[in-house]
Amino acid sequence: MNWFSLFPQSRLRRLIATGTAVLLVLLGAGLTTPGNAAAATPSSADLAYYDVTSPSAPAGSLAADLTRRGYDVLEGPLSNGVPILATEAAAQRLRRQGLTVRYAGPLYQPVAASFQAAADTYYGGYHTAAGHETHNQQVVTAHPDLAVLRTIGQSWRKTQGSGGHDIQALCITKIATGDCAANTSGSKPKFTLMAQMHARELATGELAYKWIDYLVGNYGNVAAVTNLMNTTELWVIPIANPDGVDIVSSNSTRPVSQRKNAHTNGCSGTGLGVDLNRNSSYHWDVNQGTKCSETYPGTAAASEPETKGIQGLLSQIYRDTKPAADFSPATTATTGTFLTLHSYAELNIYPYGWTNSLAPNNTDLKAIATAMSRSNGYDAVHGDGGLNYFAPGATDDWIYGTLGVPGYTIEVGPSASGCSGFFPAYSCMSSFWSLNLPAFMTLANAAARPYPTGS
Ligand SMILES: [Zn+2]
Repeated sequence: MNWFSLFPQSRLRRLIATGTAVLLVLLGAGLTTPGNAAAATPSSADLAYYDVTSPSAPAGSLAADLTRRGYDVLEGPLSNGVPILATEAAAQRLRRQGLTVRYAGPLYQPVAASFQAAADTYYGGYHTAAGHETHNQQVVTAHPDLAVLRTIGQSWRKTQGSGGHDIQALCITKIATGDCAANTSGSKPKFTLMAQMHARELATGELAYKWIDYLVGNYGNVAAVTNLMNTTELWVIPIANPDGVDIVSSNSTRPVSQRKNAHTNGCSGTGLGVDLNRNSSYHWDVNQGTKCSETYPGTAAASEPETKGIQGLLSQIYRDTKPAADFSPATTATTGTFLTLHSYAELNIYPYGWTNSLAPNNTDLKAIATAMSRSNGYDAVHGDGGLNYFAPGATDDWIYGTLGVPGYTIEVGPSASGCSGFFPAYSCMSSFWSLNLPAFMTLANAAARPYPTGS
């Protein structure tokens, strides 16, 4: 037991902000802290979460500096220092350089030795890429009137003839003539939910899996679902980065912390690959990271087959209602919404993410994000979100900047239980689901008319 598992990070930070009296009470209660409990400190080679502060540099510039130097800097608030994922050996190196490095919690939660994972699952129940593919096929076989399965591209390994996967998308709706045709002529507006583009963000693929089951399982039973599926095409790309997920799930009790795809680049370990959320063809930025860094954007915009497949589908199903200029608004005739799931910073993010300048549809974009926040309680942010770094080349910016479709990211996090980090215990998924389902419904229902004011 440690603080990390007792409190979500944001709550812990609020507690710390209230003063040391709270800390002393907790210490007096016999709770171990990362800082003073040798037993809670990982061995030198184990990855764990740390918060880094500098006596001289503000957190924003420290974050940028650590990123430049190849540290795995995590998305999230900087109020408690710069959050990184690192080995204890790396943390010691930073301490020797004069930085304060506080252990914040382990990467892994224990999986009971007695746990018998079902086929196609790992780490207590998370579904492998193959498990998602089996599920997708089961859904369309069981519900031919409600779901269509499409192949929208290939993973990098598949393009190389060395294993890999097709990129799959489900279209879920009460199918009428012309629906799910993968073109813009259908009469229903579209909502797309995409997950696990960053392979190690385990909760995201699982939420997509639950969303699929929730829709096909409740048509005809839950009025809100029936109405939605009668009027809207619900597209789901449950695994945007299947090669990365294969790497993650290759260790069933200690998943590999792979974020990027599996594109060979001469880097070892999780340096392998391209960051697909920096690889879009909108504001692609060569300076986002060197080859082995976690934000390496690839050699060119949309260089990766996964990016091509995803952009290909989305540009087929959504009408383009926005002039190309960054600050020309999409028209009020725009239909559709888009959501990409990441973890675990507890944010609802709306465009733009490449600049702090307001997007031309800011009023309407922000109104939807604010509605999402009313249910999941996350902060609604845009631009650098106060984090001092931007995300050019991300999917949410691409779909808004290129097509005018409102593109959102939810950084899913626990909010009210000890389920933080990339690898929460599988038992955390039910609370993630109940927290975020209303936000999914908000976005899906906004697809009919996302820009009521046009500003
Ligand atoms: Zn992510």
